[in-house]
Amino acid sequence: MDDMNQILLNKLRIMNPFGKPEFLDDAAIIIEDGNINSIISGHSPDGFQGDIFDMGGKTVLPGMINAHTHLYSSLALGMPPPKNIPGDFVEILKEIWWKLDLALDHSSAQASFESGLLDCILNGVTTVIDHHASPNFVSGSLDLLVASAEKFGINISVCFEASDRNGLENFQQELDESLHALEKYRDHPHVLPLIGLHASFTLSDESLQKVSDSLQGHQDWGIHIHVAEDLADERDAKSRGYASVIERLDHFSLLNNRCLIVHGIFITRQDRQTLLQHGCKLIHNPSSNANNRVGILETEIIDSLHAGLGTDGKQNNMLAEVNQGLLIRSAKACEPVNYLELLFKNNPNIASHLFAKSLGRISAGAQADLVFYDYHPRTEIHADNFMSHILYGFEKPSDVMSHGIFRVRNGRLPDIDAGAILENAKIQSSRVWEAMQKH
Ligand SMILES: [Zn+2]
Repeated sequence: MDDMNQILLNKLRIMNPFGKPEFLDDAAIIIEDGNINSIISGHSPDGFQGDIFDMGGKTVLPGMINAHTHLYSSLALGMPPPKNIPGDFVEILKEIWWKLDLALDHSSAQASFESGLLDCILNGVTTVIDHHASPNFVSGSLDLLVASAEKFGINISVCFEASDRNGLENFQQELDESLHALEKYRDHPHVLPLIGLHASFTLSDESLQKVSDSLQGHQDWGIHIHVAEDLADERDAKSRGYASVIERLDHFSLLNNRCLIVHGIFITRQDRQTLLQHGCKLIHNPSSNANNRVGILETEIIDSLHAGLGTDGKQNNMLAEVNQGLLIRSAKACEPVNYLELLFKNNPNIASHLFAKSLGRISAGAQADLVFYDYHPRTEIHADNFMSHILYGFEKPSDVMSHGIFRVRNGRLPDIDAGAILENAKIQSSRVWEAMQKH
């Protein structure tokens, strides 16, 4: 599908945070078969055999990666408030998110995926690591998500978050859906299947044992699970006789270097050692944590585990997540975190390891996922201050490319009827909001 001749992107300003080169003011990029072939300082199209795009001095960043989100929650935007106002984190789940996920069927799940992915690509997000739940539409849900992501050219990680909360039969279906995807998409170039688990506190020892048993004989598996997002999760693990959630997962042999541990706000120093030993990846979601009032992840934990950055379904704009992360810590006078490093260094490292290809980087051999901005600020830009421009100056990208193909060109999607997707999302969202009243 991505077979193509070489293309040349001319007249670019390259901003490649933490990469090499990190900043080039007048440059060109040659792309071959969907991957970056070379980066050239200056522009010299003489004798070039292939399509040449004059980018007119636009600024290019690597395609961005969202390391944890829930596309199933896309239709929550503007929904009516819950009948019972939730008092704590577990009540937020029960009153809002577990009602929303139960209300989803095939049509509304598709509308959630498509409208969410549309927002992702328009914000320059070219890789999405998703954690899916739709307990009344389990079988085929991950295939639908893969098909939706392929339309947008977005690299997608899929898993179904298995949980006991809707009964053991449902748990088994959910686990089977992830296992099915694990086999089906094993060698797919743009799809990464993982094993989704909701959280330790909604899974019995028997269920965790089933997960562990069912992974025997499989290769390249990793679990994707919420951990210690709230103290309730840790208290539950202790009440079952474990020192912590991480110790419980380790007891069932579920930790390895493909494992995504999401949140981790209440993990201990011992847990951190365990995660380091297994090479597990920690994913931090500052805007969601602030929104749910669950606490702030310690800077030392973020730094020592080289945490990735996700949005937990809160938004699809990674630069906004970076900004909000900074402000949340400033408001609480916490030790600062270099959120650009999470987005442009840690996320590419995590995604490149899991997808087994170089993602989220502007370098020779990396997949050609690129985000272009028509950026003409009031001040100078140079190698020493370009990070500040990314943080405080950038708005929506004008163009987005993935696998060497323009998915957004001058603000429009050449291959997608965005209007139809938004119209359908309006219809499906009102169906979902109505169905939520029944649960
Ligand atoms: Zn989440």
